[in-house]
Amino acid sequence: MRIIRTKAELREALAEDRRASRTIGLVPTMGYLHEGHLSLLRAARERCDVVVMSLFVNPAQFAPGEDLEGYPRDEARDMELAEDAGVDLVYAPAVEEVYPDGVATTVDVSGDLAEVLCGAPERRGPEHFRGVATVVAKLLNSVDPDVAFFGQKDAQQALVIRRMVHDLDFSVEIQVLPTVREPDGLALSSRNAYLSAGERERATALIRALRAAEAVAESGETRAQAALDAARAELEQAGVEPEYLEARDAQTLAPAESLNGRPILVAVAARVGKARLIDNLVIGG
Ligand code: AMP
Repeated sequence: MRIIRTKAELREALAEDRRASRTIGLVPTMGYLHEGHLSLLRAARERCDVVVMSLFVNPAQFAPGEDLEGYPRDEARDMELAEDAGVDLVYAPAVEEVYPDGVATTVDVSGDLAEVLCGAPERRGPEHFRGVATVVAKLLNSVDPDVAFFGQKDAQQALVIRRMVHDLDFSVEIQVLPTVREPDGLALSSRNAYLSAGERERATALIRALRAAEAVAESGETRAQAALDAARAELEQAGVEPEYLEARDAQTLAPAESLNGRPILVAVAARVGKARLIDNLVIGG
């Protein structure tokens, strides 16, 4: 497995693969790998001739005062796990390599996709998905993969990226893979490292809440609000105050009032201790 730090080296390292028309898969990560990341790497390994993992904690997607400095990092362990998962090449650039002085261009996906849920102005704001879209655009240009792999855990991010790829004519296939969970349902996240034992227990309220919403939908109830009420009750019982808990069309993120057979994304974000956690389930459809 090669570890590469610069765009120029990356281009050179992949030149022969490109000439030989080998399929290239890209798995973008911010590191501190867990089974969620590994599931993407395995899917890429199965599907592609060459697997590239990027490892970059992207400052542009953190708001001031968020956990950029404290974000968990363990590059040596990540490299071992990546190698075990069959990664061929890790692209782990320094911040200055990605954002040299003078950078003046960003990618904005406007409208409902990026400006609701996590992107709402009172939450992480439009800067968050601008930061995500911009860095993913740069990674897609640097690696030029045939397929890029993302997790449904970050459902809104996946939709924003699909939109950007479509709108800006990137020739890459976007694969979105299911959320990997702990046995008790907690979605794996690098930020789970922030949780104390007690907080770890309370954090399971997120998936309980989403499953309560799903159960209401499966009982034949058609009002989204009834599903959200059931979810909110689960959170309340655990003393978890959601930053948001919403039902939206799973494709457009338009608000969903009825559970009428179309896939509905039920999405939740909540702070548990120091960790801001997100999770979602698609129900119906
Ligand atoms: P991150 O390192 O958190 O930026 O995540 C890198 C990629 O892994 C993103 O596409 C995430 O959606 C995906 N991912 C993170 N957690 C999970 C999970 N529990 N299951 C599946 N994919 C995940």
